[in-house]
Amino acid sequence: LEPKEEFEHSSLAVDVMRPRRSDPALAVLTQDGMTVGEVESTHYSGFPVVVSQESQRLVGFVFRRDLLISIDNARKRQEGIVSTSQVFFSEHAPSQPPDAPPPLRLRGIMDLSPFTVTDHTPMDITVDIFRKLGLRQCLVTHNGRLLGIITKKDILKHMAQIANRDPDSILFN
Ligand code: ADP
Repeated sequence: LEPKEEFEHSSLAVDVMRPRRSDPALAVLTQDGMTVGEVESTHYSGFPVVVSQESQRLVGFVFRRDLLISIDNARKRQEGIVSTSQVFFSEHAPSQPPDAPPPLRLRGIMDLSPFTVTDHTPMDITVDIFRKLGLRQCLVTHNGRLLGIITKKDILKHMAQIANRDPDSILFN
């Protein structure tokens, strides 16, 4: 994100964020109720953590790398961690059936205040924030509800698209 690549177009965060309208939903983790197996079988470099799928209220953000390291460590050090163990990011362990395997607390690896912008934030401001704060990703919300994610690579791709665009299409569309 070189400062010289000026960004004077009127795109908004909602135009650059993923998922696109036709894509599968944003991959999120819920603060409780998911298992080690479910968390391990995810893709992407990172995940927003939400209160629940229904609310999409943001709780934090975790990197996949940290999730995998923590699970690996827990398997080595904590008795009884299996694929069906529940993981929780909440303060307190959720109630579980008495015969359930011990749950795994992962709150410690979560960023509790991930950077967010609203869907209508102009991209020039978003890019400025990425540059100044050295962000790798930023979440997009609308009225406190999580909508999407923008990674540094998404921004670089968007800038490249704009740079290659026919100038007439910018002026007349
Ligand atoms: P990068 O953009 O550096 O390749 P990722 O692998 O995390 O990093 O993301 C690949 C693509 O998927 C990007 O376009 C990004 O916006 C999108 N993405 C990242 N995280 C998620 C997620 N949790 N759910 C859905 N899409 C995501």
